[in-house]
Amino acid sequence: MKWISATLSIGTFAALYFFERRKPLRRQIEQKEISTARNLAIASAAGTAIIFLENPVAAKLTKFVEEKRFGLLKVFRLPKVLETVFAVVLLDYTLYLWHVLTHKVPFLWRFHRIHHADLDLTASTAIRFHFGEMAISVLFRAGQILLIGVSPNALQTWQSLLFLSILFHHSNVRLPKTLEDKLQKFIVTPRLHGIHHSVKNDEQDSNWSSGLTVWDYLHGTFRNDVPQNEITIGVKEFETESEVTISKMLLKPFDSNTNYQLRITN
Ligand SMILES: [Zn+2]
Repeated sequence: MKWISATLSIGTFAALYFFERRKPLRRQIEQKEISTARNLAIASAAGTAIIFLENPVAAKLTKFVEEKRFGLLKVFRLPKVLETVFAVVLLDYTLYLWHVLTHKVPFLWRFHRIHHADLDLTASTAIRFHFGEMAISVLFRAGQILLIGVSPNALQTWQSLLFLSILFHHSNVRLPKTLEDKLQKFIVTPRLHGIHHSVKNDEQDSNWSSGLTVWDYLHGTFRNDVPQNEITIGVKEFETESEVTISKMLLKPFDSNTNYQLRITN
């Protein structure tokens, strides 16, 4: 299962990278090789946090859930397949809530904005997370697993689907508009996520979903009314290439001089 998921992920990344060159959705700001290499470097630090922190914690907790029949879904004695489907849906919804928190809680935004600081939005942005965000999110993941009652198999299924989903919707691939319009009814697409990565606050405060778009519909945060050529991707504080170097990106969250105000929008 693991190697199938890994092969599928690498294949998807390669295919998206190819189509990002052939049919880009937005104009590439930085040289693609440079931004990809930077994103992969930032991602490798995040990957270390996942391997040494998230994976061991998640493995222990999902095993505990399975053995003790702990958490919401374990109350019902559902067929395995159905339980996995519910777990994936609930994990997807709670990730929507976590995503909102990473923007609205100043301490979390310190880290999540490193993901947003990429001047382009491409498949490699999907894995460009600050290692601090990955480390902190372990606490939230533990809460998800225990509350929902996520079994090891359900977690793995969700993680594999989520990974393919984020590669897809961060990508800079131009799909036919009619196809995207259809897909947007169900899943997050590159145009939708492009609006979330805008430097403008009112555009950034939309399209928080990571898998199914139903959560944005239900919360009234779905937006597909911004043409991609009108979007500037990034974060206001980091507008040039010299401001988004690897070292600056990795160190910025620990900068005590930065004033992180709680951003209330209406
Ligand atoms: Zn975000």
